[in-house]
Amino acid sequence: MQKSNLKILPIEITKKLDLDKNVLYHLYIEEKKPSPEVAKILNVSPATIRKYLKEYNIPLRTKNEAAKLSHLFQKKIIEKEKLYRLYVEEKKSLSEIAKMFRVCIATVLNRMKEFGIERRADSEALKNRFKNEKASFYGKHHSEEAKIKISEAGKGRKSAMYGKHHSEETKRKISEALKSENAPGWKGGITPENDRIRASLEMKLWKKAVLERDNFTCQACSKRGGKLHVHHINNFADFPELRVAIDNGITLCKKCHKEFHHLYGNKNNTKGQLEEFTNFVKYGVRKEKD
Ligand SMILES: [Zn+2]
Ligand SMILES: [Zn+2]
Repeated sequence: MQKSNLKILPIEITKKLDLDKNVLYHLYIEEKKPSPEVAKILNVSPATIRKYLKEYNIPLRTKNEAAKLSHLFQKKIIEKEKLYRLYVEEKKSLSEIAKMFRVCIATVLNRMKEFGIERRADSEALKNRFKNEKASFYGKHHSEEAKIKISEAGKGRKSAMYGKHHSEETKRKISEALKSENAPGWKGGITPENDRIRASLEMKLWKKAVLERDNFTCQACSKRGGKLHVHHINNFADFPELRVAIDNGITLCKKCHKEFHHLYGNKNNTKGQLEEFTNFVKYGVRKEKD
């Protein structure tokens, strides 16, 4: 089989090819693609890929090998020149680039840091977007939170989601909901109205995903259920790109959340503060700041 870029084949064709032993072997063994990537290409779930790998007696990689490979793979696909061209020259947004590479924004930001590409924090576009999002978000904050609350408790398991970014399921829900909510005028999310709907919908799904990942349990005091908030580890205002990164969210009960912001304020919140805070609540010790 030639080294074609199967990623760009239309879905009808990949559907026909999917789960063919040769295709699986080619992608997984010869091209050394991580199994989640193979799953994306073939438009099936990673579990299905693993099932068929076993069935075809194609040796599965160990967790260690897989982790190493996945890191290499992301490095390989997000090359410095490509990233520079897209972000600096073509002025594409982080979320556009993340979509193109099929990774989350946090990954793109990591690569940029690694490559020394500076983030445009102060571009007009970003400022305007932030203004809109701020306006549409702040009014709704609590009612949206209330909507996803504990009626769902018990469903959550701890969890395949842990440490992952947007799950495929979440991505699918977002895109489906966007299409149905706004079908005739949908122009690929480029109008302000679409941006607004997307932002609020993503926020809702983001909260739900974080709550489920954390099994509806406060990650500081370990209380389960009750009034739960989802806190932005890197704060909402200063990190617009991380607003819906699941890794940037954490479940805190109302009491712990209030206490956190009472101690650290509402600006410039960091992971370090959160670690310090959760250690403090859990063990009554304050870790030294670095
Ligand atoms: Zn708590
Ligand atoms: Zn918070």
